[in-house]
Amino acid sequence: MDCIFCKIVNGDIPAYKVYENDKVLGFLDISQTTKGHTLLIPKKHVANLYELSSEDASEIFSVVPMVANALKKAFKPIGLNLVNNTEKPLQTVNHFHIHLLPRYSSDSLQIGFANYADSLTKEDYLEVTDAIVSAIKKT
Ligand code: AMP
Ligand code: ZN
Repeated sequence: MDCIFCKIVNGDIPAYKVYENDKVLGFLDISQTTKGHTLLIPKKHVANLYELSSEDASEIFSVVPMVANALKKAFKPIGLNLVNNTEKPLQTVNHFHIHLLPRYSSDSLQIGFANYADSLTKEDYLEVTDAIVSAIKKT
């Protein structure tokens, strides 16, 4: 399979590995969007979040706090963002990964949340809630 992250897992291409266990690998994102920008991946090929089993999710998310605390200790960031991009065009590497992005007051990363609460009614919220609740019931 032509997957760049599987190649890293298999040792076919190099990576700056920061953490490894039986199921999970952590390594520096080549882009270093912020200092310490780290990716966590399952060693097993899983395409994206939609394909992740709860067992896969447990394995990978169970190491997130430990790696986040290591980044905090190493670089003293002002905070940290956890990011996952799911499916094209957001996702550019088709092997599930979590970005850990330590944040610094001087960095240029922009992650912002618009707030539309003032323009929404109770009915708007209930419509969205019902859509999600009924979708969950069908899973
Ligand atoms: P995404 O857009 O969420 O799919 O992010 C994919 C990430 O993989 C990008 O931030 C890339 O910089 C990173 N990346 C791609 N190839 C490599 C590589 N060989 N080693 C480390 N990081 C990589
Ligand atoms: Zn893969």
